[in-house]
Amino acid sequence: MKNYDYIAIGGGSGGVATARRAAEYGARALVVEAARLGGTCVNVGCVPKKVMWYASNIAQAMRDAPGYGFGVGEVRFDWSTLKARRDAYIARLNGIYGGMLEKAGVDVVRGFARFVDAHTIEVNGERFSAPHIVIATGGRPLVPDIPGAELGIDSDGFFALEEQPRRVAVVGAGYIAVELAGVFNGLGSEVSMLVRGPHLLRPFDAMLRDELMAQMQEDGVKLHFGTQVRSVARQADGALRVECDDGSTLEVDALVWATGRRANTDRLDLAAAGLAADDKGVISTDAFQNTAVPGIYAIGDITGRAELTPVAIAAGRRLAARLFLDRPDSKLDYDSIPTVIFSHPPIGTVGLSEDEARRRHADVRVYRTRFTGMYHALTEHRPKTSMKLVCVGADERIVGAHVIGEGADEMLQGFAVAVKMGARKADFDDTIAIHPTSAEEFVTLR
Ligand SMILES: Cc1cc2nc3c(=O)[nH]c(=O)nc-3n(C[C@H](O)[C@H](O)[C@H](O)COP(=O)(O)OP(=O)(O)OC[C@H]3O[C@@H](n4cnc5c(N)ncnc54)[C@H](O)[C@@H]3O)c2cc1C
Repeated sequence: MKNYDYIAIGGGSGGVATARRAAEYGARALVVEAARLGGTCVNVGCVPKKVMWYASNIAQAMRDAPGYGFGVGEVRFDWSTLKARRDAYIARLNGIYGGMLEKAGVDVVRGFARFVDAHTIEVNGERFSAPHIVIATGGRPLVPDIPGAELGIDSDGFFALEEQPRRVAVVGAGYIAVELAGVFNGLGSEVSMLVRGPHLLRPFDAMLRDELMAQMQEDGVKLHFGTQVRSVARQADGALRVECDDGSTLEVDALVWATGRRANTDRLDLAAAGLAADDKGVISTDAFQNTAVPGIYAIGDITGRAELTPVAIAAGRRLAARLFLDRPDSKLDYDSIPTVIFSHPPIGTVGLSEDEARRRHADVRVYRTRFTGMYHALTEHRPKTSMKLVCVGADERIVGAHVIGEGADEMLQGFAVAVKMGARKADFDDTIAIHPTSAEEFVTLR
């Protein structure tokens, strides 16, 4: 048996961050990782997704180029070249993660961890113990249980695609679904989205989802709402035949399930540690990431809250400070977490949607604008930018800032600082605009 001060199960965003900080604070730390270091974000999430988004933006820029006087000849795009270059980049990142842990003095063991008791785990038959164990095992895509479901791929399968499918169905309405649909469409595949409910991006501000829906439709994505896939079958010609419960059928070359994720708890033998997960595999924690068992903590996607990389990292770092830096109050504030959806066009959002603000507050005032960004003044493709500030109370405290349009992805981080600090509308009005930008509209709203 090897003894440590701190064990992180899972070497993804949360596990790596918390173990590195703990080691920095003097703890003997171990990370156990079953697959590749970096977890979902680095290998099959944020990073490869953003590479694909950039590729799709380049394709769009080439379509925009004639508006600026460029004569663009035949443009060839080779999916497999992009994939090989993307994979090489990610392999470099895996190496960098390994190097960072080594430099920090964190031990790494490869394999699946399972609990033996509340302070002991077993990996490949070897036992490790620590007074503090953090579960950071993330999640994996969920695929519905219907005939032929295995003929489709999930988001992991998307990143494994060696060739670009000509016709694609993306099933789902969440951010991963709209992002993957946008990438395929931008790179020239014919895309249909199959959505069970009446909207894309259900929990987000209505302005964002309505604008995105309109823009995706204008860009040629076929949106089917109120429909569920009933079965998938392979035809003699190799194509997939998708049957929906409304009687419609679709023929595609690939089907992508983007229908949610499930937390990775099933292989942990939680019961041996006296812990339990809910029916989605989620482990509940208090505000300090404590689980129901003293000395066992959970961070990141496994906790089912704000499933984002910087959230997993921040929760992990704060936990390490609480345990090993004598900062008893150190915890993550889960309010006003900003996020970007790398759709086409991108979305930036922080705080409450207008609907949510109206549910929680009596005195809500909303400022909105919609315009064509200057970049698109000369292009044939002219997506709109929309912005909204949601304010509450007599002093108009800003509780929500939302934007969809060119540049939204890089626009919101700074505004999120202001919202987090409790900025009022008057503070925005007092800030001089940066001209000519789209972001300046946020400080000139009337
Ligand atoms: C397609 C996609 C796009 C995304 N895009 C973004 C984005 O743009 N921005 C953003 O902020 N977030 C994004 N996310 C979410 C982000 O990837 C996650 O929130 C983040 O990775 C969660 O970190 P984590 O540490 O909780 O888990 P993970 O990063 O998933 O790491 C968990 C690790 O635990 C390992 N593991 C599991 N079980 C065991 C076990 N029993 N023993 C040992 N190891 C185990 C797994 O192999 C994995 O490496 C995206 C996710 C997906 C799927």
